[in-house]
Amino acid sequence: MDQNQDKLKDIISHSKEYGFIFPSSEIYDGLAATYDYGQLGSELKNNIKTYWWKAMVQMHENIVGIDASIFMHPTTWKASGHVDAFNDPLIDNKDSKKRYRADVLLEEHMEKIRQKIEKEVEKGKNRFGTDFDETQFRATNPNVLRNLEKIESIEGRMREALENNDLEAVRNLIIDLEIVCPVSGSKNWTEVRQFNLMFSTELGSVAGDASTIYLRPETAQGIFVNFLNVQKSGRMKIPFGIAQIGKAFRNEIVARQFIFRMREFEQMEMQFFVRPGEEMTWYTYWKEAREKWHKNLGLGGNLYRFHDHIKLAHYANAACDIEYNFPMGFKELEGIHSRTDFDLKQHEQFSGKKLQFFDPELNQSYVPYVVETSVGLDRMFLSVLSAAYQNEKLEDGSERVVLRIPPVLAPYKAAVLPLVKKDGLPEKARELMKSLQFDYSIQYDEKDSIGKRYRRQDAIGTPFSITIDHQTLTDDTVTVRDRDTMEQIRVSIKELEGLLAEKASWKSVLSTL
Ligand code: ATP
Repeated sequence: MDQNQDKLKDIISHSKEYGFIFPSSEIYDGLAATYDYGQLGSELKNNIKTYWWKAMVQMHENIVGIDASIFMHPTTWKASGHVDAFNDPLIDNKDSKKRYRADVLLEEHMEKIRQKIEKEVEKGKNRFGTDFDETQFRATNPNVLRNLEKIESIEGRMREALENNDLEAVRNLIIDLEIVCPVSGSKNWTEVRQFNLMFSTELGSVAGDASTIYLRPETAQGIFVNFLNVQKSGRMKIPFGIAQIGKAFRNEIVARQFIFRMREFEQMEMQFFVRPGEEMTWYTYWKEAREKWHKNLGLGGNLYRFHDHIKLAHYANAACDIEYNFPMGFKELEGIHSRTDFDLKQHEQFSGKKLQFFDPELNQSYVPYVVETSVGLDRMFLSVLSAAYQNEKLEDGSERVVLRIPPVLAPYKAAVLPLVKKDGLPEKARELMKSLQFDYSIQYDEKDSIGKRYRRQDAIGTPFSITIDHQTLTDDTVTVRDRDTMEQIRVSIKELEGLLAEKASWKSVLSTL
């Protein structure tokens, strides 16, 4: 098993041990690819939601938020195209009996070639040292060029096959590239078939077609069907956005890799309604804005990259992903899509209701175009956790596990620790905790030695540990230990609010966006 998979395993067990994520219904041996967020996980998840909501809604005067229901009229999904086209191409390996997404097998194959290119560049760097001109190397090195050509040719064939829904061509590509099943190692593949990802259920007591409804596979449609309600009641003028955070459900063919791909997950989506013809300007705007939002967390700029879609969804005229370097490699974290006027037009047609905006400046009505940003909350959670989780060797030879979660997202901003359980220190500590609790979540801990308590706070990502000792009773000062540097400073209690505001308040992170 490689190092990265080991890291994912470590994160999974750490998450369980400290109450971030548990396997769902574990006492019944769990349910595949379903997870429950525990006491610390829900705090972290809520903080990620708040960061998104404040950045998108609170900080934009022309974006408002809604909370639509999960069940929607079944015609919604006819109109949106999901009943007919929300499919993944699946393929089985006859020897291992394992099922895969055909497009994912091809993407992974191309990723391997990309890695070869990066290795070649690394070699070049080592060979030429400071004289190395990376741009020129990438443009001229024969191995790099040959591999780039390979990728382009695969992308071309894949795009054509998927766009024409030519499943045999998809299979032929897999055969031609000699892609093997990672489990059996064989090339003994079945035909490729389409598989619809929507979960259906029945409404009320009558079974049959008329009462079949779907669990929403994306939150976006709840926004589209409310476009006019929000526009009118909120007196919104184009361009404007509607944001929403909520559950979505997809019957994924292969749900694995922890919370990266689940059948029940949460999305944070924003649909931005614009004038027809202005969508590419806004598409570029939102690409930049969303990249900034991610990088602003300070997890590391090189962990993100853009990836343009090879096959555009049935509704899009431009689409890209922000990918993140998860322990299993670069994978989609967020999608940014220019959805044209497809959805609103379809809903007009199927509902017979006009879904248009009267633009006073142009003195005309039109169906707005839409640019969408859609980020998975659970994938955000995994991205934060995988950058934050570190197993460190300390100078004295000991080890510590520390979660370097950005302070604003940390489940607890500070821990309040009385040095001993007597002499009035617990009372003083609780008094301090109560004064800070209005603005920040604080943990109180009086058990075990101070060293052990620091380690526990490191393991759950608490950025500051505040120790109350005997001196505190005489001069109202405390020690504050920094999670990342482990340095301690002595400050007066009066200064604590300022310190937390500077490092862990919403303002501290929103003001740098
Ligand atoms: P993928 O190609 O990985 O299946 P997608 O392109 O189908 O993803 P979108 O339809 O663009 O995903 O959904 C928007 C976001 O929702 C994704 O960027 C991802 O963060 C999240 N998401 C999608 N499917 C899942 C899932 N099964 N589990 C967790 N998050 C998901």
